Amino acid sequence: MAELKRLSESRDLTRIERIGAHSHIRGLGLDSSLEARDASEGMVGQLHARRGAGLILQLIRQGKIAGRAVLLAGQPGTGKTALAMGIAKSLGAETPFASVAASELFSLDLSKTEALTQAFRRAIGVRIKEEAEIIEGEVVEISIDRPLSGAGAAAPSGATAPGKTGRLTLKTTDMETAYELGGKMIEALGREKVQSGDVIALDKASGKVTKLGRSIGRSRDYDAVGAHTKFVKCPEGELQKRKEVVHCVTLHEIDVINSRTQGFLALFTGDTGEIRAEVREQIDTKVAEWREEGKAEIVPGVLFIDEVHMLDIECFSFLNRALENDMAPILVIATNRGITSIRGTNYRSPHGIPPDFLDRLLIITTQPYTEDDIRKILDIRCDEEDVEMSADAKALLTKIGVETSLRYAINLITSAALACQKRKGKVVEMDDISRVYGLFLDVKRSTQYLMEYQSQYMFHEVAAGEADGD
Ligand code: ATP
Repeated sequence: MAELKRLSESRDLTRIERIGAHSHIRGLGLDSSLEARDASEGMVGQLHARRGAGLILQLIRQGKIAGRAVLLAGQPGTGKTALAMGIAKSLGAETPFASVAASELFSLDLSKTEALTQAFRRAIGVRIKEEAEIIEGEVVEISIDRPLSGAGAAAPSGATAPGKTGRLTLKTTDMETAYELGGKMIEALGREKVQSGDVIALDKASGKVTKLGRSIGRSRDYDAVGAHTKFVKCPEGELQKRKEVVHCVTLHEIDVINSRTQGFLALFTGDTGEIRAEVREQIDTKVAEWREEGKAEIVPGVLFIDEVHMLDIECFSFLNRALENDMAPILVIATNRGITSIRGTNYRSPHGIPPDFLDRLLIITTQPYTEDDIRKILDIRCDEEDVEMSADAKALLTKIGVETSLRYAINLITSAALACQKRKGKVVEMDDISRVYGLFLDVKRSTQYLMEYQSQYMFHEVAAGEADGD
């Protein structure tokens, strides 16, 4: 099928890792016997839940979890999303992790089932292996920090033009050819098209330069490369091994690229619209063929659906069926609700989940954090956000975390760092924390404020005392 040829475009995708709410989570922090270490891989406390998640990890690895799903139940901010992320990270860097809030599935642009299908396919990875036309001893890899643009010498050293922070690594057995050919390759492809982590091959016989794809790894790995152009001389054996190039894309990425109406740019805007069923069928057939030929492998990822009580009965029936598929990702759902009505019905059930779906679930509960856990999590977050904080300030922030919520305290780290920056300080002090604590209300104080001043707002209908306890 002609459309699938455009799959090659998917290689151009850049995955950027930013500091996000859970970027400090690198795994579940378990030892070899699946016991939870107190603090490890960015995870702190919640030992019981992490042990449970570890067992699930084992079931996943042994392929014994098909047709079931995991429910993380617990109060807000007790690390349900963090646990789901930990499971995905422990499964390996290539394991796709897709996360949606159930409310996102209800939009006017997409039907619920289409939105769910897209979520499922974002959590199914395809590892595609390709033979590269690399002539032994030639340049095989280029990694550059950002696109290089503008005129410059043909030699790759010209790529790091003054004022540009481009970095370049060429792996080769021969330095001379690296300089000469590396420059030619970049010129041949067009400088603006070369990105960090691109793998480029040169066929010496035909002189053909091809962009093979992207090396799989975190963009941060390249930070280790110096600020200037760097050439790495590597043994011939290593070059030989690199002849097989592997790309990892998700089924959803393949869908979007092959959907005629959208085009691959929709991947960046997220504006994918409905994807026709026949496009998906063709892709599934093609991927099945590749699997048979040994060219591709399916990597089931983790689909995390938060606020699962917001799903309605139709979504649950869709999930029941989707879980039966042999390519299905591991479904991890989370809720902070107790017994509540099942959306779309008049029935009530635990977590608002229909009994037939509840029956498929392995349920893990999360517990509120202790003061010590909160202190450690805040410590990790300070490191992650590169914020230096004095011991007093940390103690105060921990106290705030205990009295308000962990999430509120985590949010104060960034704002306190900005307050510190404003007064040209280097270390966040207690005053910075107090300042932002005064500027931004937590839930309790916000409720209290509303109770006191409710007469000045529209629709002030809450009776005194009703809003106690959040
Ligand atoms: P909600 O019910 O509101 O969705 P949640 O239970 O999903 O909340 P998270 O978003 O996972 O809570 O946790 C809040 C913040 O605390 C996140 O930044 C998360 O990464 C961090 N966090 C939570 N638990 C842990 C933990 N055990 N170790 C390290 N960080 C954690």
